[in-house]
Amino acid sequence: MLNLYGHENILNLFNRILTVGNIANAYLFVGENGLGKIFMAKYFAMMVNCTHKGKRPCLSCPSCLQILSGNHPDIFFVEPEGNSIKADTIRNNVIDNIYVKPYNSLKKVFIIKEAEKMTEQAQNSILKTLEEPPLYGLFILTASKMEGLLPTVVSRCEIVRFTRENDSVIENYLRNEKNIDSIKAKEIASIAFGNYGKADLLIDPEFSEMRYSLGKILFDSINDEKAIRLDNYKFFDENKDSIDDIINIMLSYFRDTLVYKMTGDDAFIINKDMIDDIKILSGNLTGFKLNNIIKKIEDLNFNLKSNVNYQLAIEDFLLNI
Ligand SMILES: [Zn+2]
Repeated sequence: MLNLYGHENILNLFNRILTVGNIANAYLFVGENGLGKIFMAKYFAMMVNCTHKGKRPCLSCPSCLQILSGNHPDIFFVEPEGNSIKADTIRNNVIDNIYVKPYNSLKKVFIIKEAEKMTEQAQNSILKTLEEPPLYGLFILTASKMEGLLPTVVSRCEIVRFTRENDSVIENYLRNEKNIDSIKAKEIASIAFGNYGKADLLIDPEFSEMRYSLGKILFDSINDEKAIRLDNYKFFDENKDSIDDIINIMLSYFRDTLVYKMTGDDAFIINKDMIDDIKILSGNLTGFKLNNIIKKIEDLNFNLKSNVNYQLAIEDFLLNI
């Protein structure tokens, strides 16, 4: 069984589109990663191509079943190779393919993942096809941000925005789909902050262990001597691939501390599992100091994105918080 959690506005939109029968040539799904854009792209493709007369998708006709199993002959995925989608990829997978009639469907669907990573040439090469695909052609571009997309591409798409869900939606998702007990599901939903992808990460034992170690390092760093802080570089070295997650965890941790310092209210703390440490730190640090730490984390993020030497940037950060 395929269950939907949240996405109500988007589902209403899809239903309106199907009822009226005005399916656009191209849609652009925009929203941060982890909000279910690809899931909903497949779901929309399933609705569009479902052969059932009643509620669509029926999840039982041959078309629905083929999409569910990832074997539909008329649904195509294009994704970045390395950090970009090149013009050649678009030519080979989209332009040379779209004029071949669909095998057995109303729509031949092209789902372009992380479309903002298309090179400028790739985007220019797809413009004409986006504007005037064959009648059976349907594009769904997904992107975490508009930045990187040419205005000429954006203007040819109907934009569908994905936003974070309520905690209760994520909580239900965790309980029903991942078999997490109610108390834990509530705690994780709070930390995931409306993002399914984050919730998935948080129940991953390896990620959870990494996050726990980081919390401990942050807490200890505030009180210990510089020599001990430098030892912590080892953690950052071992978890280099997760540095974006590490930055986000640190920001969230110190924002919690600052907010608790200002409000004294538990309800505003996102990292509920770290609440004891956060309360202690909020007592030990001034608001000025906390703001300063948050600024240092933002600087570190900026430095790492500007190709500064990783070790130097991290050690400088550890010495200065
Ligand atoms: Zn169906």
